[in-house]
Amino acid sequence: MHVMLLSCCCVLVSLLLPGPCFTAPTFMPDVERSPSTEPQVDLMLATDYLQLYYNLKEEPFGRRKRSWPSFTSKVKDMQIFFGLNATGELDSGTLEVMKSPRCGVPDVEEYRHTQGSRWNKNVLTYSIGRYTRDLPRSTVDSLIESALSVWARASSLSFVKSHTRTADIMVEFVTYEHGDLFPFDGPRGTLAHAFGPGEGLGGDTHFDDAEHWTAGQTGFNLYVVAAHEFGHALGLKHSRNPESLMYPTYRPLHTGNLLSREDIANINALYSPVRRNPHYGWYGWGSHYHPWWSGLLYPQLLQDKCSPDVTFDAVSTVGDATFFFRGKYLWIKHNEQYDIKEGPITNFMPKIETNIDAAFWVPRKSTAYLIHESMFWTVKGSLVKGKPRPLSNLGFPAWVQDVDAAVHIVKTGRTLFFIHDIYWSYNENRRIMDFGYPKYISEDFPGLNTTINAAIHKEGFIYFFVGTGVYKYDYNQKRIVGVERANTWLGC
Ligand code: ZN
Ligand code: CA
Ligand code: ZN
Repeated sequence: MHVMLLSCCCVLVSLLLPGPCFTAPTFMPDVERSPSTEPQVDLMLATDYLQLYYNLKEEPFGRRKRSWPSFTSKVKDMQIFFGLNATGELDSGTLEVMKSPRCGVPDVEEYRHTQGSRWNKNVLTYSIGRYTRDLPRSTVDSLIESALSVWARASSLSFVKSHTRTADIMVEFVTYEHGDLFPFDGPRGTLAHAFGPGEGLGGDTHFDDAEHWTAGQTGFNLYVVAAHEFGHALGLKHSRNPESLMYPTYRPLHTGNLLSREDIANINALYSPVRRNPHYGWYGWGSHYHPWWSGLLYPQLLQDKCSPDVTFDAVSTVGDATFFFRGKYLWIKHNEQYDIKEGPITNFMPKIETNIDAAFWVPRKSTAYLIHESMFWTVKGSLVKGKPRPLSNLGFPAWVQDVDAAVHIVKTGRTLFFIHDIYWSYNENRRIMDFGYPKYISEDFPGLNTTINAAIHKEGFIYFFVGTGVYKYDYNQKRIVGVERANTWLGC
C-alpha cells in the first residue's frame, strides 16, 4: 500500500516577493559533461531544493560549492527538519529526501509569519476551475469534496461548492508557469501548492497537471495530496512529524484517518470547534452551526440551482443580498458580487431548522421576516432575533395557518401576504391589517390565477415566482410585463 503522503504546498500567503529563493529548479546550462557530472547534478538539485524550500539565497558570484557556509547551514536545517543526521553534507540519505516528490510550500522559519493567519469565517466557498484529464470530472469533484471534509470533520469549518471564479479556495490543475510566481516543474518534484488564507490568491490550491493523478495507489493520490494542500489553504504549516498529513513529502500512508493528533490540534488552534467569533460581514452567520455535522452533511446536500425544475419557496431581500429558500436549503446572492453562497439554512441561521414558506424585507426597519407555517422569525443585521412569533401578532385571524408568499412595498408601506387565491394587506406603519381584506388575488392582480410560491419587490415591480417561472408585474398598470425562468435570478 503505498499511498504516499504528498507533501506539497505552500503557505506563501500574501507576501509573494519575487526572488531567487522562489526560482523553479532548473539545470544550469554551464554544467560540465565530465565524469563528475553526477555530483554536479546533485549539487544543483540540492541548491534548487534549498532555495525553494529553505530560503537559501543565491550565491553572490553565481558559483555553487558544497562548502559555501550558508549552503551547509541550510543543508543542516533541512536535515534537522527531516530527522536526518545534521552533518551539512549531501549524503545519500539527504539526497534521497531531496529527490522525493513533495509539496511546493517551503518548510522553514522565515515563513513563520504566515502561520497563524486564518480565515475570519467558518464557511468557506470553493470552486474547481481547470480540471485534470487524468480522472473523470465527477471523480475529481468527489475527491476534492472528500479532501475538504477531512478538515471539516475535525473543526468548525465547512465548505460550500460555488461555481464562480471568486471562491475562497480556487482549485486548478495547471503546468509550469501558471500565473503566480511559483511555476511547476514537470513530472515529480513539486506536486502541488496552496496559498494561505487571504484575499485574491489566498486559499487557492494548484496541482501540477504534469503528474499522474489517481484515485487509487498508482501515480499520486489526489485525495491525499488535496487534503494536505487544503491544510495550507486553511493556514497550516508543514509538520516534522511523519505521522502528520502536513509532513512535506509524499509518503506511504497507513489507512484510516489522514489526520494525526497534531494535525487535529493545529486546525483546532486556528478554528476552535467552540469558538464564538464576532460576525464577519453579512454571511458571518455560519460561525455557530454544529461543528461535527458540517463536513458530513454539507456536500451531500448541495443542490443544483440550475436544474430546469428548480422552484423557490420564498425569495426576499435581506440587507445587501437576496435570499432564495427551497426546502431546508438557501442560496444567498449578494447584490454587488457574483459569488453565490449556498447550503442548508441552518448553516447560516442555526435557529431555523425548518423550511421557509414566505419572506419579506422592510428596509425602514432593516428587518427581514421569515415565515414558516403559522410562525415567523425576525432577522436583523445578520442575527435571528429571539423565538418565532405567531402570525396573529401581525393581525391575522387564527384560521390563517400558513402563507404562500409575502412582499413589502416601500412606497405604500404595505406588506402583502398571499394565501391560496386571496391576499391580505398589512400597514407596517400603523401595524394593523388594512380594512376590507382578504381580497381575491385575481381581482386585484389580473393575470395571476394560480397559487404564488414567492414574491419580491424590486425597482418598482413585483416579481411573482410561480413554479419554475417568474412574472414581472407592474402593479400600477395591473398587468404582467415579463416572464422568465426562476433560476435566472441565480445566474443560470
Ligand atoms: Zn505542503
Ligand atoms: Ca511536478
Ligand atoms: Zn500556483
